[in-house]
Amino acid sequence: MKAAAKAVASELAEAKSTPLRAPRVVVRVRPLAATGGHSADGKSVYKKLAKWHDGCVVLEDGHGQTEYKFADTILDTEATQDAVYEASAREITRAFVQQGYNALLFAYGQTGTGKTHTIFGPMESWTDVRHPDAGVFPRAVCEIFDTLIPVADSTSFVLTASAMEFYMCCCTDLLDNNKPCLIGADHAPLGLCTVPLTCPEDAIGFMERVRAARTTRSTQMNTAGNGHEGSSRSHCAMILTLRQVDRNSKMCMRTTLNIMDMAGAERPSSNGEGHESAIKAVMDYWRGAEVSVGGQGVIVNFELSALRTAVVQATAQHRKRKPLVNAKSLGTSFVEYASGCFSGSSLLAMIVTLSPAPSCGWETWFSCTYGEDLSQLRAPVRPQKPRLIQKVVAIAADTATKSAADLKKTPTSGPAAKYLQKRSVQARHDKQEADLFSSLLGMVGE
Ligand code: ADP
Repeated sequence: MKAAAKAVASELAEAKSTPLRAPRVVVRVRPLAATGGHSADGKSVYKKLAKWHDGCVVLEDGHGQTEYKFADTILDTEATQDAVYEASAREITRAFVQQGYNALLFAYGQTGTGKTHTIFGPMESWTDVRHPDAGVFPRAVCEIFDTLIPVADSTSFVLTASAMEFYMCCCTDLLDNNKPCLIGADHAPLGLCTVPLTCPEDAIGFMERVRAARTTRSTQMNTAGNGHEGSSRSHCAMILTLRQVDRNSKMCMRTTLNIMDMAGAERPSSNGEGHESAIKAVMDYWRGAEVSVGGQGVIVNFELSALRTAVVQATAQHRKRKPLVNAKSLGTSFVEYASGCFSGSSLLAMIVTLSPAPSCGWETWFSCTYGEDLSQLRAPVRPQKPRLIQKVVAIAADTATKSAADLKKTPTSGPAAKYLQKRSVQARHDKQEADLFSSLLGMVGE
């Protein structure tokens, strides 16, 4: 007990002495569409995107112009996918591979502004992982292999991928028939199905599986057609986990890179469905009835605003150098999971996608104020410490044995049966961790 208290105290002391870091924030302005809500034909609203220049987005309304200076980089309508990756993801991907950092990158913006386009790349690019239009995710996978393959003599590694969808306040495993999944005490998902990525090309097969399982709908701002499914109605997190070991020192590290395509924020009048009740939407979902686009929208907006609140609270706590305690009472799985990354456990990067269309001014204003709040986050981000592989394997095996025993003694009926689901997921998770670390140990010939 004393040792545990000492460990917590030293962790707090370390957090206090770690410099606070800001997230990396990139704005991408999509080109005008030929037709639909993001074209030039839409009805002008009170606010409009007037211009953007040198890290500054300028909005205009009847009171004049307002500047929003929250971005490190603003990418124009002509920006290439490579430029987007370079500005937003390259640095954190390298830190994830080479310096032991966990990282989270997410794309945020109004429906139809290009979040999915940015993260996954357009469908034409899925033929080749190194396609010029490939998105941030396949580019990050390529970068991981390109960094590690040349040092394969000295470093062995195992890269795995999992994917979760957050939809209607629930969280499901996209690689396991959308089975519900649990978020553990440390905000990390438990027992997710993982697939090994053994070469960059595996990223495409993985994205295909994610795409097939995601919840999408055609809305007024992002119409389905021509191989495009319409708007993503869920938040989708793709989690890359890298386990690597130095073959000489036998020290190993486990880091995660989360790449999230968030559901689009939108006003009810824009998605063509009008206002809906959040309670009705959730009840429809649980009854198995189809949830309307308006109902999905109201839940998405609720979660995005809860996340914003979590960021504002995290910023205040870190500034006071106090530990972060996330409120759970109204937290959905998405908020619980994402807010875990604000504790200082991950480097953060955010891509805010905007539309220049005259009908999108209010959403653009909302995205800018959201970006402003998120860009204020300062967290004491620390890298993982390398640990001896034999020790890690022994601890992982021990943990797996303990959780298997816990599961075995859990009754299948009666009041204690309520622990069954959590313990079975925990046991699966711990066994998976133990197996992966032991395969890493096998790679260094121990
Ligand atoms: P979101 O995920 O934000 O709802 P999508 O990524 O699905 O939006 O984009 C909607 C449509 O707009 C798609 O057909 C996509 O190809 C197109 N699009 C979005 N951003 C761009 C861009 N920067 N360049 C070219 N096309 C884009």
